[in-house]
Amino acid sequence: MSEEHDSEFVGSAFETRAIHAGWEPDAETGAIMPPIYASSTFAQDAPGDHRGYEYSRTGNPTRTALEDNLASLEGGSHGRAFASGMAAINTVLNLLEAGDHVVVGQDVYGGTHRLFTEVYEDYDLEFSFVDATDPDALREAVTPATELVWIETPTNPLMRVLDIEAVAGVTHANDALLSVDNTFATPYLQRPLEHGADIVTHSLTKYLGGHSDVVGGALFTDDAELDERLGFYQNSVGATPDPFACFLVLRGIKTLPVRMDRHSETAMGLASWLAEQPAVETVHYPGLSTHPQHDVAARQMDDYGGMVSVELDAPLDAVETFVSNTEVFTLAESLGGVESLIEHPASMTHAAVPPEQRRQNGITDGLVRLSVGLEGVEDLRADLQQALSEAIDG
Ligand SMILES: *Cc1c(COP(=O)(O)O)cnc(C)c1O
Repeated sequence: MSEEHDSEFVGSAFETRAIHAGWEPDAETGAIMPPIYASSTFAQDAPGDHRGYEYSRTGNPTRTALEDNLASLEGGSHGRAFASGMAAINTVLNLLEAGDHVVVGQDVYGGTHRLFTEVYEDYDLEFSFVDATDPDALREAVTPATELVWIETPTNPLMRVLDIEAVAGVTHANDALLSVDNTFATPYLQRPLEHGADIVTHSLTKYLGGHSDVVGGALFTDDAELDERLGFYQNSVGATPDPFACFLVLRGIKTLPVRMDRHSETAMGLASWLAEQPAVETVHYPGLSTHPQHDVAARQMDDYGGMVSVELDAPLDAVETFVSNTEVFTLAESLGGVESLIEHPASMTHAAVPPEQRRQNGITDGLVRLSVGLEGVEDLRADLQQALSEAIDG
């Protein structure tokens, strides 16, 4: 949270900050929620003599309320909001120069993979994708030209959990920056800055917005100089969110803690049940004791979140029948909303990753990803059961 709100703000629990950080009831009107400041420009009393705002790409009061709220939740001193998660991620890449090398954890969001390989390789940045659960692989991939290490944890869609502190150790030994995409966990369950990350990125479109009605992104850091550079690119590139989008995200964040508790509880119940189904070969959920990085997750996260993926022991057409026949789970990309979604990474969210690399990373044709929503767990289980029988028994 920014210094100017520090002094006024007394609550310290995450739940309290989710509701109150970044905004005091409006001094003039008492408005509980920040108004949607739909104004592109702001009056000045004399040239350069303004009340903190000049032009809405550079800064807008509704956006400030969101940025201060978000920074408080991530435990960072600085937060910046963007028009999308990809716009936020792009801004981190703006810090680099031609010739720089980036080490990337291998199963990142498909759009991140596309931005790195299909946009920034043309600007002469070099990317190495590695299994970042293996510290030796990570150490070997880092070169003197490495300026940035990029990871997600839990990863999308395989729910691998990376030890942020271990990755930060390797990164900082080479004087590079560590950026962690915290979209899947949210700051309620995991705060990467506490584990040594330099930058945290988010797609606000997912759990923070939480209601599948807004697209947005954010960046956080504790380092004032780094924040200033990120702010320069935020303003210069101009991929900033409009005040209505900021308002929607602020509205969603107020219920983040209760939503994440329920997402986690229901996902755990479904993951345990799925693990017992004969047609299910593997369940990828960090909360299960069978998960290969369960102890890292238990140490690093406060709970395990709402994302589950399953590997079906079935041919592609049966897998397609399964994902097309659920009735409570909607077949759609995206995640983190109140409604449950199901999707097939190989043909949907990760279709942009070349097939060979996809298979190498473990994104098989049998892999199905679930974003477990807030519906009744009995309905969700019955729905998966009926779609599975439809697919397997035909
Ligand atoms: C959705 C997503 C993004 C991209 O965010 P947009 O808001 O869609 O631009 C980045 N990382 C992860 C992990 C995501 O799930």
